Amino acid sequence: MEGEGGKGEKGGGAGAARSTLLHNAVIVTVDSESRVFRDGGLFVRGDRIDAIGRSADVLRDFSCRADEIIDLHGRFLIPGFVNTHVHTSQQLGRGIADDVGLMTWLHERIWPYESNMTEEDSYLSTLLCGIELIRSGVTCFAEAGGQHVTGMAKAVELLGIRACLAQSTMDSGEGLPARWKPYSTDDCIQSQMNLYEKHHNTADGRIRVWFGVRQIMNATERLLLETRDIAMELKTGIHMHVAEIPYENQHVMRTTDVDHGTVTYLEKIGFLQSNLLAAHSVWVSDTEIGFLSNAGVKVSHCPAAAMRMLGFAPIQEMVDAGICVSIGTDGAPSNNRMSIVDEMYLASLINKGRGAYIKGLTDPTALPSETILKMATINGAKSVLWDSEIGSLEIGKKADMVIVNPFMWTMVPLHDWISSLVYCMRTENIDSVMCNGRWVMRNRVILNLDEGEVISQATQAASKLLERAGIVIPTRMNPL
Ligand SMILES: [Zn+2]
Repeated sequence: MEGEGGKGEKGGGAGAARSTLLHNAVIVTVDSESRVFRDGGLFVRGDRIDAIGRSADVLRDFSCRADEIIDLHGRFLIPGFVNTHVHTSQQLGRGIADDVGLMTWLHERIWPYESNMTEEDSYLSTLLCGIELIRSGVTCFAEAGGQHVTGMAKAVELLGIRACLAQSTMDSGEGLPARWKPYSTDDCIQSQMNLYEKHHNTADGRIRVWFGVRQIMNATERLLLETRDIAMELKTGIHMHVAEIPYENQHVMRTTDVDHGTVTYLEKIGFLQSNLLAAHSVWVSDTEIGFLSNAGVKVSHCPAAAMRMLGFAPIQEMVDAGICVSIGTDGAPSNNRMSIVDEMYLASLINKGRGAYIKGLTDPTALPSETILKMATINGAKSVLWDSEIGSLEIGKKADMVIVNPFMWTMVPLHDWISSLVYCMRTENIDSVMCNGRWVMRNRVILNLDEGEVISQATQAASKLLERAGIVIPTRMNPL
């Protein structure tokens, strides 16, 4: 990627609206007509896309107004990916709970880890996670909920990407760490209102604050209903883990009068609505899929975490029922890789292979690559209630986009562009990333922070955090 014709960097001081023209690209727009320009050009002015079309037309009409002209030499230009379920606070806990059962994972590793975390830890954890997100082409993510939203917001401001941040909220539940008693319902609501007041629509509009509900077993009915009403009043979203494990459904049936699980209960109390982003939703019946669809609830499918901890989610059935399904990585201790690129590949394979699990035969036609690509882009944008501005490359939308270099051993030959993006692409192919009209990675260099320095500080913070939390990871094999 290089400037040409003497039109390198010029003008565009702090605050000035810069303009960039990219041409000679395969542009996969993911717009409502699924247009792909074989030799496409795109013009960015300030933070928005001002023109998109054939290279020759865009060059003719806009090159005189461009501060920078970039010849992509046939590379792909695609919308920035949206990761709809990620625990940025858990990045320092990567590797603390590998190959252990769910109860050990939660009670002996995750809760001690999270309850000993400081705001500075959360800041470093989010920076480290953000580096991995950017390297996999993510320009927007939905935080699943952590303790220190202010630390996350500070990191997102620096990283230069977009986020819907949420606090992890619990007003009930057994087995929580002693230092981490549940807040009262009023405190849960007030704390989130304060965070909304402080951080919503900050960082040039890149940060939005959502409401979080950790999961049904840590939420009273009053917390659910007040969260529903306040989120609706503030026109923001709610992020909640829903129907993750069979035990959760059993717990709901034991403690309420519903005959199935979480989704049936949430339907009964009137909690399901279109601003709810339900993470995982693995253990849902056909009837419950109908409830989610009718209410317009969005589902974040996290294939790696599901395979490791939860089970096969009926994603094809949800897609067939018209539910907006997007893709998330979940957190580092349940997946290890925060790469949406890997997650797209897994989402396709797992849902094809699921056929063998339920009917004795795999289904290679399940979730084809164009469906997966939409899940990671426009469906992601819909899931975070931001599709009027992001999720596809269209005139008037924000300039959130990714340059993919397919001319590497990972992707050649290119017989089928769309399937290559889903089945062949690796993070190594992600060349450059722009968010809100500004480059956050260019030629594989992260621009807004010193990556080496973050890695060093985060590594030190992680060791101290594990020590404080008393988490000891047993050694394996025979270290000498
Ligand atoms: Zn999660």
